[in-house]
Amino acid sequence: MDMTILGCSGSLSAPDNPASGYLLRMSDGREILMDMGPGVLAGLQGDGDPGSVDVIFSHLHPDHCSDFPSLVVWQRFHPTHAASSRHTMIGPSIAALHLGRASADHPSRVDDFSDILDVRSWRAPDLQDTPVAFDASSRGTVYPVHHIGETALYAAPAVHPTESYMIRVEEQDGSSLVYSGDTAATGHLAALAHGADVLLCEATWGERDNGDNPPQMHLSGEEAGQAAAQAGVGRLIITHVPPWGDPEGALRGARRYYDGPVELARRGMVVTVGS
Ligand SMILES: [Zn+2]
Ligand SMILES: [Zn+2]
Repeated sequence: MDMTILGCSGSLSAPDNPASGYLLRMSDGREILMDMGPGVLAGLQGDGDPGSVDVIFSHLHPDHCSDFPSLVVWQRFHPTHAASSRHTMIGPSIAALHLGRASADHPSRVDDFSDILDVRSWRAPDLQDTPVAFDASSRGTVYPVHHIGETALYAAPAVHPTESYMIRVEEQDGSSLVYSGDTAATGHLAALAHGADVLLCEATWGERDNGDNPPQMHLSGEEAGQAAAQAGVGRLIITHVPPWGDPEGALRGARRYYDGPVELARRGMVVTVGS
């Protein structure tokens, strides 16, 4: 697979960088859009096909989903490139209600997406609280699995003020990308990322932010580096640095703990995952 970064600004868009949006091109030909913050749909019109993407959400803070109602408009009403079949949307259990309200004509109504989308939830009865390294015994059991085409998607619970997930995207040949979404430190991150080719990890906080960060919210660069080292990933990409943030400090922090390749995400970057 490869991943095109359509936007990676943390918490809100920056002047030259939309908020979170990552377009995955899978080897079976499908395109999966991972999060959809403000500005992402504009980039998708250049780099992808809004009429044919499947969409997955880590969580539903506006910087990760606010362009979605406009994607619904495209997939229903585009005169020549509307959705030709139902695609898949996977997100928190509240996604159908939350995004349905955001797409409706009146606050008391909920838009029903079932004409264009098969809506599924990451939440599953067997999603466990205890981190277990992702391997043959935990895949699909500790971390429940969904499929989009030939791609397997695994979720683990994140630590964040709203229902949030970390996501592992895996091809049949084992090529794997893990996305932290937004999360505070949790053992699930290194567990889910165990042995992954690429860890796309938020580091909202750099060195300038040390000491006074709100709890249960985000990671620092050092915490991202610790998770990458513990998981033994092949490559670390730091993302979700806000416009007022400290990207170089986050990068230095990650490098203190992780000695593999690490870099900052940037708009337009294309990342090849696996061979
Ligand atoms: Zn965010
Ligand atoms: Zn968030």
